[in-house]
Amino acid sequence: MTALSLDRLRLDGQRFMEEVSREYFLAHAGLKATADLQTIYERHAAILGEDALALVREEFRGAAPGSDAHRSARLMLEWLTDSVASRALAALDEREIEWEGSAVVRLDDGRELPYQRAAIDIGNTANRDERMRIERARARVVEAELAPLRRERFQREKELIEGMEIAPTFNATFEALSGVDLTGLVRECDQFLRDTQSMWDDVYAETVRSKLRMDPADATRADALHLLRAQEFDAHFPSASMELSIRRQASEMGIDPDAGGRIIFDTGEREGKRARAFCAPVRVPDEVYLVLRPHGGQADYRTLLHELGHALHFAYTRADYPFEWRWLGDNSVTEGYAMLLDHLMHDAGWLARYTELGRRHAPTFLRTVGFEELHFLRRYCAKLMYEVTLYGGDVGWDSLPDLYVDRLTSATTFRYDPADAFVDVDPRFYAARYLRAWQLQALLTETLVERFNEDWWRNPHAGPWVIDTLFGEGQRELAGELGERATGRALSFAPLVRAIEDLLVTS
Ligand SMILES: [Zn+2]
Repeated sequence: MTALSLDRLRLDGQRFMEEVSREYFLAHAGLKATADLQTIYERHAAILGEDALALVREEFRGAAPGSDAHRSARLMLEWLTDSVASRALAALDEREIEWEGSAVVRLDDGRELPYQRAAIDIGNTANRDERMRIERARARVVEAELAPLRRERFQREKELIEGMEIAPTFNATFEALSGVDLTGLVRECDQFLRDTQSMWDDVYAETVRSKLRMDPADATRADALHLLRAQEFDAHFPSASMELSIRRQASEMGIDPDAGGRIIFDTGEREGKRARAFCAPVRVPDEVYLVLRPHGGQADYRTLLHELGHALHFAYTRADYPFEWRWLGDNSVTEGYAMLLDHLMHDAGWLARYTELGRRHAPTFLRTVGFEELHFLRRYCAKLMYEVTLYGGDVGWDSLPDLYVDRLTSATTFRYDPADAFVDVDPRFYAARYLRAWQLQALLTETLVERFNEDWWRNPHAGPWVIDTLFGEGQRELAGELGERATGRALSFAPLVRAIEDLLVTS
């Protein structure tokens, strides 16, 4: 076996990532019964342990800040800390997956249903009393059984990361490795919540009254699930033409949707294939799968656009870039490209050209979309603010459920349940990646409109610019750096507020 070095880590790291990605692809596409990840972890144990971590940590400390060597070392150190922690947490995560697969929700009247059905049933149940019966039973079993598992997982993760001696605390380690300024982002979230409060109060009250037909003061997160399940527009988004329409749009903006054969569309029906579309970059940029089972409906269109954004990004990444710039880095970037495409569902011109929504339904659809957008953004701002406190360690674990309810309820107005305080948490601040992706998306959309007009999405000059300026760079840069380079402006919530005002005011 060759001695550990950065180049060995690059070579084996890439093999490891390719094997994991292929395993997920095969399992989720229904081509294999289960994903056998343990074997892959064992095969690559040499590059996923303390020695590798120590090597890259030294490299990171020794490199000149601002240099490419420093950038590469940071990306690899972040990836290694995640991988080492994930390996150590695997047993806890497996226990959780097992629980989710076997847990039973018991209603007050004695009926039972599988835990995994509960959220779906809550979303689908129009009768409010029945909806709340399921919700109460769900919250009961989550509080008693899942919440303690999750709480232990986060405590353990915090200890592990803090023990890696990169920075004194979990949050400081995240900031050093991700390049994301958590404190600054939390301040922006707080400001965004205040800036959009009165707009939210108006649209919330009107929507809850008209769609749920209930007093806005009584609505809970379970009611929100039902409200957001809205299927009234699905007929305008037929499955038969979905893939073709979206491929046509990519071609019209000058992007080959197959990326010269590097993107493989897997659209056939198959037992065991996941219901939701997903993208699996098995070799970046040469072998990227876009797996879907077209059902139709607005959610399906949005998911396909989102996953196509990821697929195009991976397949158009420069092949001559090192492993860490193609495979690792700030996921706000790839999520930003996915959102750039899925936000086409907010564009009246795009909807008119590529869907069957028609002029008559467009205004109500856009207003609904504006409500959803503002709701999700406010929810994610509150989530991030709460999660920063959870990992921060200044508030005791026992006090977190009350804080969770307070933060999420005051941001969304829907009443949250303390049972979800450790369940409704994205590990390692993925909420921060999404929020910055949202900002990046809004900034890129405004820039594309300025450069290539309102209908940039069918301008044959837009695609080559997107590929050259954006996709080609992989995730070499942080979302903020990329935004500055491509648009000359800094990331912020301002373009998102403008877009939401357009959706809610003009429609
Ligand atoms: Zn995504």
